[in-house]
Amino acid sequence: MKKSVFLIVSVVLLRVFAISAQWTPQQTEWYYPEPEKVTPGVQAGAPPSDAIVLFDGKDLSKWVNSKGQKPEWTVADGVLSVKPGTGDILTKEHFGDCQLHIEFRSPAPENHHGQNRGNSGILLMKQYEVQVLDGDNNHTYVNGMVGSIYKQSAPSVNAYTKNGEWQVYDIYWKAPRFGTGGELESPAMITVVLNGIVIQNNFILKGHTPYIGLPEYQPHGRLPLMLQDHGTEVSFRNIWIRNL
Ligand code: MG
Repeated sequence: MKKSVFLIVSVVLLRVFAISAQWTPQQTEWYYPEPEKVTPGVQAGAPPSDAIVLFDGKDLSKWVNSKGQKPEWTVADGVLSVKPGTGDILTKEHFGDCQLHIEFRSPAPENHHGQNRGNSGILLMKQYEVQVLDGDNNHTYVNGMVGSIYKQSAPSVNAYTKNGEWQVYDIYWKAPRFGTGGELESPAMITVVLNGIVIQNNFILKGHTPYIGLPEYQPHGRLPLMLQDHGTEVSFRNIWIRNL
């Protein structure tokens, strides 16, 4: 027993000496390209200097509806709200890998339950939905609750606070990669933080997130970010994105 331990230690030490004899520290250090200097937002959640601000409380100039026209959602007091029945809205700009910050507030619950209570959605690349729903004592299928990757992955915890309070999403998105023949080279991957709590940790998506049927991948390039009109007056504010 002792002999074998001695042998292992000797082999490890010899290996360490051999490595340090072959390498200098400088051989594993690099200086270029130097990362660009980016200034963080002053307050928590404020956009850093290199972010594209998609909604700053003033207007919807960065957005269109599904017909490519000016969206009819309402902007008042620095807040963007779904105008039910007017349809989803999409960014004019297309995105791939990104970091997205977006805050939302559910409307008063009234008599609504489950999927009808404060339903909206953040659809990366128009088709991969991070669910927006009232998570305050509102029971529904868990892979469709707030923080779920719709019908694919329930959040690890319910990090929603209270109805009427602002909820803060930070989303880290790696887009799927497709080969020149349209074949899937690598699937999409997502990390979702709700109110500072990681609720989806590097989840690998099985495809898009349909209401009916199974997820699948169709080849695509960069696409707009989409916000869902699901018939309730969900509000949004402070939306910014960074290309990664
Ligand atoms: Mg939804």
